[in-house]
Amino acid sequence: MDIINDLKSMREVYWTNPGYRKFNEIENQLPITSDEVMEAEKRLHRFAPYLAKVFPESKDGIIESPVSHIPEMMSWIERDIGQAIPGELYLKRDDLLSIAGSIKARGGIYEVLKHAETLAVENGMLYYDHDYRKLAEKDFIDFFSKYRIQVGSTGNLGLSIGIMSAKLGFKVTVHMSSDAKKWKKDMLRSKGVTVIEYPDDYSKAVEEGRKDSDNDPMSHFVDDENSRDLFLGYAVGGMRMKSQLEEMGVIVDEKHPLVVYLPCGVGGGPGGVAYGLKLSYGDLVECYFAEPTHSPCMLLGLATGKHDQISVEDIGLDNKTEADGLAVGRPSSFVGKVMDMLLTGSFTIEDNKLFRYLKALYETEDIFIEPSAAAGFNGLFLTRDRYIDKEPVQLVWSTGGSLVPMEERSKFLGD
Ligand SMILES: *Cc1c(COP(=O)(O)O)cnc(C)c1O
Repeated sequence: MDIINDLKSMREVYWTNPGYRKFNEIENQLPITSDEVMEAEKRLHRFAPYLAKVFPESKDGIIESPVSHIPEMMSWIERDIGQAIPGELYLKRDDLLSIAGSIKARGGIYEVLKHAETLAVENGMLYYDHDYRKLAEKDFIDFFSKYRIQVGSTGNLGLSIGIMSAKLGFKVTVHMSSDAKKWKKDMLRSKGVTVIEYPDDYSKAVEEGRKDSDNDPMSHFVDDENSRDLFLGYAVGGMRMKSQLEEMGVIVDEKHPLVVYLPCGVGGGPGGVAYGLKLSYGDLVECYFAEPTHSPCMLLGLATGKHDQISVEDIGLDNKTEADGLAVGRPSSFVGKVMDMLLTGSFTIEDNKLFRYLKALYETEDIFIEPSAAAGFNGLFLTRDRYIDKEPVQLVWSTGGSLVPMEERSKFLGD
């Protein structure tokens, strides 16, 4: 296949999905339902008073991010490529999400909260109509301290699971891959989280974490490669977009389709968001995934139909990228099978371009994001011809950045 040769060569590629289908034709064939997403949204509302209490920076305890209109960045990209791009450009600010500073604040925190609720309800300590602020009391912290939560991570998932679990009182172990940044490990250790480091990549960290957890009946493993709960937490974010854009007066219709560019690692984050968007907008939204040229695991899995049965190493790639949130060699099979029919297309981006976009965004709009979060910008010129006769609402999903320490930022910005 040509696409495999292109991926091997590490050239940037643009792939449109031949399996794409109308949403209403496939909605009830998917392994996940809208009812489950609604239930997840309700659960997050039950926990909001608790989160507001223990993380005052989360304000009302609803972890949500704004959308920024970024016309100056659009002009920069148009100058850069020497062509006009149709529509208006917006940035979804998951870099600003409270508590964990990345998109992982959606899935990761949701899964930990659900686990805590299940344990407390099963033990007769909590009912759904209680005031969840009581979870901050000593009885609960003592109760949760008997249990362990574990996760394998390239960094951001570890931050989100670690911070939330430690706050509830759980013992928590994060298995970190070699590409995880030192400041992320330091931050976790400062919160009492056990961090185990591996010289290998993300898949190894996940495998070791899973093994450790399976041997301990008191331990729950947050399985980034298979978790439905992570996916549901992300899906809530996609579903909420509709009311958010309506409040901003942004119109989405046939003439103004919503075109969304999502950075993809193992696939749960962008897959969940894309599914939530489809639930709200059906065929009026089209989603694209963005991956580094060194780690295009989801694109490889989708284009070959092999999903998690093939890794980027199998085609000779090294899975080494500065986009630590995307440094994943093998995709989730569960998510790949959902995306088979939902995803409009996918593309890759070279690392040096991540830094160019990151810097341009900082200079034009005064917004700092981390390298992974800049991957979506590459889509704007790739999809240009497809939307040239329309006025699309172009939305780049920024996935992280606000926790990055100042000295790391200047390194990324090259000054
Ligand atoms: C994890 C992450 C992603 C991708 O999410 P996946 O669920 O791994 O696909 C994108 N950007 C950042 C900053 C991340 O941390």
